[in-house]
Amino acid sequence: MSVSKRVQQLTPSATLATAAKAQQLKDQGIDVISLTLGEPDFHTPKHIQQAAIQAITDGVASFYTASTGMKQLKQGILDRTKADIGVAYELDEVVVTHGAKFGLYSLFQALLDPEDEVIIPAPYWVSYVEQVKLAEGVAKKLVPKSAHQFKVTLAELEALRSEKTKALVLTSPSNPTGAVYTKEELVDIGQWAVRHNIYIIADEIYGKLVYNGMVFHSLASLGEQIKKQILLINGVSKAYSMTGWRIGYVLGDQEIIAGIGAVASQATSNPATVSQYAALEALTGPQDKVEEMRLAFEERLNVIYPLVKALPGVKLTKPEGAFYLFPDVKETVALCGYSDTQSFVDALLEEAHVAVVAGAGFGAPDHIRLSYATDLETLKEAVKRMQHFIEKKS
Ligand code: PLP
Repeated sequence: MSVSKRVQQLTPSATLATAAKAQQLKDQGIDVISLTLGEPDFHTPKHIQQAAIQAITDGVASFYTASTGMKQLKQGILDRTKADIGVAYELDEVVVTHGAKFGLYSLFQALLDPEDEVIIPAPYWVSYVEQVKLAEGVAKKLVPKSAHQFKVTLAELEALRSEKTKALVLTSPSNPTGAVYTKEELVDIGQWAVRHNIYIIADEIYGKLVYNGMVFHSLASLGEQIKKQILLINGVSKAYSMTGWRIGYVLGDQEIIAGIGAVASQATSNPATVSQYAALEALTGPQDKVEEMRLAFEERLNVIYPLVKALPGVKLTKPEGAFYLFPDVKETVALCGYSDTQSFVDALLEEAHVAVVAGAGFGAPDHIRLSYATDLETLKEAVKRMQHFIEKKS
């Protein structure tokens, strides 16, 4: 085998794999509804598109930028961060990356030595564990006992902490559960990180997408001491409907940020210049489209949540943010006569033409993830198909 051991050990993204399977069926002309991807269905707002077109016609998009991103975009990120969460960072404390995903990848490369441990609470976004492995770190998965949306407790963190614990990943709002940590919970976890000098990789990419009165708090906003431990991940993909543009950013300790810049300088040179101009407009231009899209997600959540919850055997807590439902389908799977969630998910795709992602890739094998970042009619049709499928099988 000529493929490296490192890559042999890699598990490809479950989400992208299921999405690809759904696309294959679509290519055969089958009417598949795919609720797999974490991708808003809205087009990037017009004023952002326009800024990108302008950058192309002005000629500025033709060239490389600094590998850590354009200065004016970094300033735009600092201003947006100050406006959104009330926290001030300096220019050498921010790096622009090729999506938040590469921000995380290069952060783990810059932060971890072999054997360094990273605590990753389950259910987790599919890429953290694999990215830690690629950086030769050790991913310590934590499966919270709490039935309440899987939030971690201090006792659980403490039980997993060791001398080698370098970082904790905390995603709030969470992909896949949609859980949002309260200020009090975050303060407790932040103080724990300060006490033990552990970095918290705070993935706040869904920070603008909270619903039904829930308030989002950034870990970086909880005082200077906690802020020092925080490596803040964000980007334009979700809130600005810009997944294809690939712009994310990391904020935090100047040395680690410089390390990420060094990785990027050898890996990507710079995030696409045209996308940086688009992101600059997104972050510094009018913000009303963000709220419009948030309201659309909120409406979809409020319509779709009770329908999914009412499916036979399904257990589901109402999410407070992001755009996913993550129901426990253990009983449903058994009711339909399948031995595991993946077989249920495969049959649902092949027979009912609804694509969802099995929970195993997120560290919660009894669950499935449905993205509700699609229009209401499609969502209702998907649930109808699921209902028929379950009734037929049980
Ligand atoms: N973090 C979380 C929790 C996500 O769900 C995603 C996207 O699915 C990302 C990071 C990466 O976002 P992007 O690379 O599109 O900026």
